[in-house]
Amino acid sequence: AQNGATVCIIEKEAEAGGNTLVSGCSFQAVLDCLVWDPKDPDATTGVYEYTGETYNKAKSDKGRLDTLRTILNWSEEPFNEKVEDPAAIKSVDDYDLPNRGVHPEYLETLRTLKQQIRAYLDWAEPKLKAGAKETDLTLFSTVELHIFQTYYGGLRLNNDKTKWIYSDYDLVHQLCTEILPTKEWLMDQGSLFQNESSTGTLIGCLWQRINRFIGGKVNGEQIDGKWGAYFAVPLNTVLSANNKNTIMYRTKATELITDGNGRVTGVKAVKYDGTEVEITATKGVILATGGYAYNREMVIETNDYWDKDDLSPDILSTNRPLAMGEGIIMAQKVGAATKGMEFTQLMPLGWVDTGHLAGGTGENVIYISPAGTPNAGKRYVDESAERDVLCQGAFDFGGEKGLFVEISNAGNRTKENNVEGRLYICTLEEAAELLKIDAETIKNTIVEYDNAVRNDTLEELAVPKSAATALIGNYNEDGSFKEDGLLAVRYLRPSTHHTMGGLVVDTSRRVLDKDGKPIEGLYAAGEVTAGFFAGNRLGGNAVAEIIVSGRIAGESVTKNN
Ligand SMILES: Cc1cc2nc3c(=O)[nH]c(=O)nc-3n(C[C@H](O)[C@H](O)[C@H](O)COP(=O)(O)OP(=O)(O)OC[C@H]3O[C@@H](n4cnc5c(N)ncnc54)[C@H](O)[C@@H]3O)c2cc1C
Repeated sequence: AQNGATVCIIEKEAEAGGNTLVSGCSFQAVLDCLVWDPKDPDATTGVYEYTGETYNKAKSDKGRLDTLRTILNWSEEPFNEKVEDPAAIKSVDDYDLPNRGVHPEYLETLRTLKQQIRAYLDWAEPKLKAGAKETDLTLFSTVELHIFQTYYGGLRLNNDKTKWIYSDYDLVHQLCTEILPTKEWLMDQGSLFQNESSTGTLIGCLWQRINRFIGGKVNGEQIDGKWGAYFAVPLNTVLSANNKNTIMYRTKATELITDGNGRVTGVKAVKYDGTEVEITATKGVILATGGYAYNREMVIETNDYWDKDDLSPDILSTNRPLAMGEGIIMAQKVGAATKGMEFTQLMPLGWVDTGHLAGGTGENVIYISPAGTPNAGKRYVDESAERDVLCQGAFDFGGEKGLFVEISNAGNRTKENNVEGRLYICTLEEAAELLKIDAETIKNTIVEYDNAVRNDTLEELAVPKSAATALIGNYNEDGSFKEDGLLAVRYLRPSTHHTMGGLVVDTSRRVLDKDGKPIEGLYAAGEVTAGFFAGNRLGGNAVAEIIVSGRIAGESVTKNN
């Protein structure tokens, strides 16, 4: 629309938004002003050039240095795909990725990242020796780290351990470098973000890189929340650019129209009252129809990652019922190639009763196995790990269909916050009664964990943890466990969340056919596409991708015509 094209949006629901509307809308992007700057390493504040505002630098979480040291020792040999003993691989940890090497496209990024980490450690280590804590250090964060974590966070083996999948370097590089300019493009249009806090985490996001929205300004009026930031503002841009631009709600696209040369020239659709319509597209069609995580049949049919018993037909979903994969099917009918559909992301933090997203991060909680399992009352996984690792842990050490128990410090929550069957704010004794697990076992788990957080010995825990931000228990002044302190207990289990596979696209978001050639007139953006996240997506990378790709697809469709 900004390039002068006439835009017609076809939306099958009664309102815009799709899954994005129910999402946390948090996205990953490195904001340089908030993180460690090698040119001014002791700086405690930084200026965000785009706004001219000064912000305090963010501090590191406990455990981040271990991750940086692991990357520093990452083998630079070509990636070794050989799996000697498939049966010995029970989880992603058993892949031993740092010793397998790196795919050649990512080697330069790894080398640059190592140089950045070395410079950071040269600055940090004397401070640590002089008594500073890791949490006193300014946070290390670079675009190269974002690229490399997106790569290894998605580098996975299929179910029988015979095939590896990893993200397309060009797409990942473009995503991680374009996300900040894209955020600023939204800000130019009126979107508002909490820039000073864009270093938080989200479940399975691996680093402090999360950006959050505030709202948006449209014609001088402030509209709060994600609706303002992601919908009101861009919809206003589209609709005010040209009075012919329109949104056809309650209109379901059913087929792509092609001319005799295979060029996509429009869309067939059915309106809410059954009227069939054809929309002609002179410049092109952009598919932004989302993924298919609600379509359990399609997820199970394409699955080659999860064990069949774990991905059962009655698994619940965080998604809205609109995520059915119709865009993928329409594009396949005009010759589009697909990839990566064997890998569906399950969300560990699904409410036990509905499967809807319970939300949260892994750094300030522990997960324990429920009663009736051999590991009852004990931790079984690094809660700050990737989502597939957390779900696999839940299936292996949890109860029925991966049921597990999350415990955190209640903070300022009270029993008023209790939700029957889901969330309980309670003392240790009450938690023990509720969970039917011996109080001493739960207490030992909490105290052992909290001691490791206090003493910076997370890697020495029986189940090590990669990053932690909070204690779980409450303690008296003499350090003893405060029996009447409040804990928060949640019942959770994995549900289908995101489909990493889909249509094959290039860096202009042209949809490619099976020979790798662009299908004229057809573009795609968002969860309908593949190539970005391979076997597992980091939390906060999907919203980054949809806004980066949406902008690129829009530009391409006008530039290519
Ligand atoms: C509960 C939840 C929380 C999440 N939180 C986050 C988060 O905080 N950060 C993050 O990065 N990711 C998050 N994700 C993932 C992320 O939100 C999604 O991957 C992303 O929103 C997908 O955007 P999209 O534009 O591709 O698809 P959608 O937002 O789903 O939009 C697709 C649209 O296409 C329409 N459509 C589909 N088929 C047709 C058809 N045949 N005809 C017409 N219209 C059609 C749909 O109705 C829908 O409006 C979350 C996901 C969920 C479910």
